[in-house]
Amino acid sequence: MEVAVLPGDGIGPEVTEATLAVLEAVAKRHALGLRFTSHRAGAMAYRDTGTDLSDEVFEACRRADAILLGAMGWPGIRAADGTELAPQITLRQRLGLYAGIRPIRAIPGVPLALADPRAAEIDLVILRESTEGLFYSKDRGTVTEDWAEETLRLTRPVTERLARRAFILAGQRRHRVTLVDKANVFRAFAWMRDIFTTIAADHPDVRFDAAYVDAMALDLLRRPWEYDLLPTENMFGDILSDLGAGLIGGMGFAPSADVGDEYAVFQPSHGTAPDIAGRALANPTAMILSAAMMLDWLGEAPMQEAAAELREAVDRAFAGGLRTPDIGGAHGTAEAARRVIAALGGKGS
Ligand code: ATP
Repeated sequence: MEVAVLPGDGIGPEVTEATLAVLEAVAKRHALGLRFTSHRAGAMAYRDTGTDLSDEVFEACRRADAILLGAMGWPGIRAADGTELAPQITLRQRLGLYAGIRPIRAIPGVPLALADPRAAEIDLVILRESTEGLFYSKDRGTVTEDWAEETLRLTRPVTERLARRAFILAGQRRHRVTLVDKANVFRAFAWMRDIFTTIAADHPDVRFDAAYVDAMALDLLRRPWEYDLLPTENMFGDILSDLGAGLIGGMGFAPSADVGDEYAVFQPSHGTAPDIAGRALANPTAMILSAAMMLDWLGEAPMQEAAAELREAVDRAFAGGLRTPDIGGAHGTAEAARRVIAALGGKGS
């Protein structure tokens, strides 16, 4: 199996290096036969070559069995219209990666934002539609002297596929889907809710309800442990996934997978973190857990065993005292990777 690796910018290359070390260790233990090929893309690539995602790199990504991405973008390097460079969004749109799967799970030992002891049970998934919604307008908005307009678009095929994916994922978990929308104000969301309600009828084993996004922002602070699968529009998912990450220790703990019917990109939910880039402080956990999602997605039994072992090793490392700088510890990027590798196969860290 070939994995196209796009380290990107800022802390992207730092967490990628740590993750590849962990992946190589787990691949060796399970004889996975993974081949990693690294490619240049992102803001620095744009600065040096004039393109943030060349045709060659895009084709290499399409040919690979999976794509593993660090983080991309840099504040000072912008496209001609002033927007940040975000080839990861281009990849989602061009490869039809509509399902942004973003697990929010409390890791034993990691300090949580909420004092309530039930916070240790937080285990939910934000399912962020990742190709349309408000992001449909990316590069298409109108800005005049007197007004600016960006349009939100939802389409039936993508909304139906997102709904089916939500019910399938919930069926493998705690059997609850809560659609997050704004159906009380916008027709598009009332229409989205109708589609989900129709598809819910095909999944009687899964409890279905819906919540307005503002109420959900409150509930994610009041009782996040009650939720399981939260499908939502692209922009809402973007915002709520940062809130979710805040619940479990910060962006360094939030993995993600952008999955379509054919292709998939695995990357941490976080960005390039310019404030800590270049200082070996980045927490690689989010990307390591994204790599575990990639192994699951690659599908064969040894891959899935390796994925489970990787997640257990992360848990064991933190339970055994790993403390990254983002949670007040002193263990930098390389040390975090080393401790996760040491915890593979049930060993202590
Ligand atoms: P983007 O819009 O590109 O997703 P962002 O604006 O959400 O990015 P991030 O780059 O994700 O911002 O950073 C948000 C905050 O989280 C910053 O303070 C950053 O240092 C911190 N952060 C992000 N990723 C990590 C990580 N892996 N380890 C430690 N801290 C991180």
